[in-house]
Amino acid sequence: MPRAVFITGAAGFIGSHVARAFLDSGWKVVGLDSEQAAPELSSRRLALLRGRLGFHYVRGNVGDRPLLDRLFAEHPDMETVLHLAARAGVRQSRLTPHAYITDNIAGHVTLLEACRSLPQLRQILYASSSAVYGPSAPLPFSESVPVGGQASFYATTKRMNELTAQTYAHLYGFAQTGLRFFTVYGPWGRPDMACHGFARAIWDGKPITLWDADGLARDFTYIDDVVSAILMLAEVPAGVGENRIFNVGYGKPRSVGDLVRCLERSLGKTARIRKAAKPAEDMLKTWADTTALRKMIAWQPETDLEEGVRRFADWFLTGD
Ligand code: NAD
Repeated sequence: MPRAVFITGAAGFIGSHVARAFLDSGWKVVGLDSEQAAPELSSRRLALLRGRLGFHYVRGNVGDRPLLDRLFAEHPDMETVLHLAARAGVRQSRLTPHAYITDNIAGHVTLLEACRSLPQLRQILYASSSAVYGPSAPLPFSESVPVGGQASFYATTKRMNELTAQTYAHLYGFAQTGLRFFTVYGPWGRPDMACHGFARAIWDGKPITLWDADGLARDFTYIDDVVSAILMLAEVPAGVGENRIFNVGYGKPRSVGDLVRCLERSLGKTARIRKAAKPAEDMLKTWADTTALRKMIAWQPETDLEEGVRRFADWFLTGD
């Protein structure tokens, strides 16, 4: 019998990549997604997964308890749950905070409640974010430093996910792993994120907006490195009643200007840049200390920004 994983957000950027990797490794994958984010891209990502042996998919909302109960009754063999479904945009969360609370917080609790009836559940991995560190955390960001003062509703929902997981670990002994992702980019990436959004604007000859702030930098992390960390962590579950948290990042911040230069080189076009004040909900700089993750698994990110952007641009220009 193949091992089975339930992936929420399976039509999303990270979810579709990681679903493919689990299938490649011989796992059964049951995917769920509401397809509310970037629907056109979601259906193209799903087209690559549909029809693959061991892939089961349902379109639906993670907050739909009857749907989860039905799915879990049909697939009682799921040993791993990977919860990636969420509203993921930082700036959008300022405009629609209630929607973030519904999808990111209430949806997470609904999933955890439903997980209580999964007979073979071994572990839950869930997406958190580098955004939980907030603007005043010391650099590089370390999991050992208490976090607080989140700058966006998005970050608050992700911190709430970590706290909720902690309570479920305590109450029900769930073995959980929180993944603080750092600016993940690559083929099939989100159009609302800098790499894809800038590429589209540069290609179309439209201006891109850079925040007028000294030291603006991100720990850009290539999707394949994120996928390999998730698959390796799935082999080393947290202990019973443990809620461990890891930074998943490249470990070296690069300026947003570097990202633009890499895109210009790979696309063969020059960016038109305009400056604007940095929104209060955006972080100035992110930088992952990955010591804890590398102690847990033999993981080393392999793709630097130059190579990662080159691979992204290949996909952007050819569509596959
Ligand atoms: P994404 O938007 O591509 O994927 C998320 C998917 O979840 C989407 O397909 C969306 O339709 C789905 N979804 C949203 N709400 C849902 C709901 N209520 N029910 C079912 N499906 C729902 O985003 P991504 O970049 O792949 O991010 C995956 C996870 O990682 C998210 O939780 C995000 O917050 C987190 N994260 C991502 C990054 C990054 O750089 N990409 C960084 C930090 C954290």
